[in-house]
Amino acid sequence: METVDTVTRARALFDAAPRPLGFVPTMGALHDGHLELVRRARLRCASVGASIFVNPLQFGPNEDFARYPRDEERDRVKLSQAGADMVFVPSGTTMYPVDFSTFVEVGPMGHLFEGAHRPDHFRGVTTVIAKLLNIARPDVLFLGQKDAQQAAVVRKMIAELNYPVEIEIVPTVRERDGLAMSSRNRYLDATQRAQAPTLYRALEATRDALDRGVSKSQAIAEGTAALSASAKLDYLDLVDADSFAPLERLRPPAFIVAAARFGGTRLIDNLWITE
Ligand code: AMP
Repeated sequence: METVDTVTRARALFDAAPRPLGFVPTMGALHDGHLELVRRARLRCASVGASIFVNPLQFGPNEDFARYPRDEERDRVKLSQAGADMVFVPSGTTMYPVDFSTFVEVGPMGHLFEGAHRPDHFRGVTTVIAKLLNIARPDVLFLGQKDAQQAAVVRKMIAELNYPVEIEIVPTVRERDGLAMSSRNRYLDATQRAQAPTLYRALEATRDALDRGVSKSQAIAEGTAALSASAKLDYLDLVDADSFAPLERLRPPAFIVAAARFGGTRLIDNLWITE
């Protein structure tokens, strides 16, 4: 697997790759969820590229940018083993020179749920994805359903800014107890780790209640009751899969979305509801 750190070298490497080229953007601290994206890309594409970049633009001033786990050596071994051909690992100044001042603004969807709790988060995501797409110019972009709102925001950007790339969304990879894999799970202490799967339980309880035909508020009350009493719920809601607008009754395709804090660690998860 080849590693490049400048835009010029990345361009040359990605441009020369056999097509179709699949691309997997990550912030590193890789786990099996990330690697599943690489494996899916390997199955579908002739070449597989990835990036590792902890994107400062998508972190708020009081968030975990400085302590976000970084382990480039291990990440490169994992990417290579999962089938990646090349990885772009830019520095902060390569992506954002000191006078950087151009951003991709996100419409109303970017201010709901994650966007409401993390102002400017999605603007950071769209800006970095726009840059990475312009550098790598892939045919297929692989994103995880784990970050469903991010995938919806990026899908809209790609459609509205006419990026010539397809998106493949990969189902969420979970631990055996249901906890969605996340680089942030390593912040959890043993007690919090034992409580964290209740976020998934809350989603399942909400879905089961909706399936029984109860009102949304009743379903969300049942879901909330399944969450550990020690956790702090930021939101639990039923939303339209494309717009992320809250739904009053189940109308697939939809997501049940949730975010909660376990101590200082904020985790998100969702369930996709199809027809
Ligand atoms: P991140 O490194 O958190 O920016 O994630 C990079 C990509 O991996 C994003 O498209 C995520 O949605 C995806 N991803 C993260 N965790 C998982 C998971 N547990 N299952 C599937 N995809 C994931």
